[in-house]
Amino acid sequence: MRPGVRLVVLGRQGAGKGTQCVRLSHHFAVPHVSTGDMLRAAVRGKTDLGERAKGIIDDGRLIPDEMVMEMVDERLSQRDVMSRGFILDGCPRTIGQAEHLRASLLERPLELVVDLDVPRSMVLERLESRRTCVVCGTIYSMQNPPMLQWVCDNCHGDVVQRDDDTAEAIAKRLDLYDEETTPLLDFYREEGLLELIDGTGSPDEVFNRVLKAVAARRSG
Ligand code: AMP
Repeated sequence: MRPGVRLVVLGRQGAGKGTQCVRLSHHFAVPHVSTGDMLRAAVRGKTDLGERAKGIIDDGRLIPDEMVMEMVDERLSQRDVMSRGFILDGCPRTIGQAEHLRASLLERPLELVVDLDVPRSMVLERLESRRTCVVCGTIYSMQNPPMLQWVCDNCHGDVVQRDDDTAEAIAKRLDLYDEETTPLLDFYREEGLLELIDGTGSPDEVFNRVLKAVAARRSG
């Protein structure tokens, strides 16, 4: 049987994280656990969590650590994750979340944290043209739309510009990323888990760089 993996993927919004995570989750046959997707589903489903999170997400701010980590802990304790592992996308975003995650995963620690490195000017451009399926989260762009405009190729859901992909909210999220998330790189560097991956180039090139990093970690 193909081995699973326990991987965190970091990177600025628009660094191609979502796309790479979907591919990695298929390759390793593990669930793609995206906190952004889970929170947006909660907003759509009008759950308690969704109602509390909506304004914060639309505003481009971070959901409080306890709220997010309760949701993440619950997901990471489900059977598919327990048996195979996970690709964690969008979390941790703060040192508090990273510490919480380390404690939750004591028995089955992270194997690697990859940071997809793409210059800010490049991600701004990508984000403004990004379009996302509201049902399954598949990512398209103005340059790379679904076959039937704007209906998802995978699940026939509506493909739209996310409410928080406006220029103003994007700028805020990128600033926030630099401020709050950059210390995470130091945290994981100190833990000996961090691998910086050049996130420029084609999705295939980036994917192969990530696979190589995982293989190198396992062999060494
Ligand atoms: P994303 O799809 O990862 O860009 O997340 C979209 C929004 O969801 C973020 O701008 C935050 O408001 C919220 N969010 C997602 N993940 C987290 C997290 N780990 N901690 C706090 N807020 C989060």
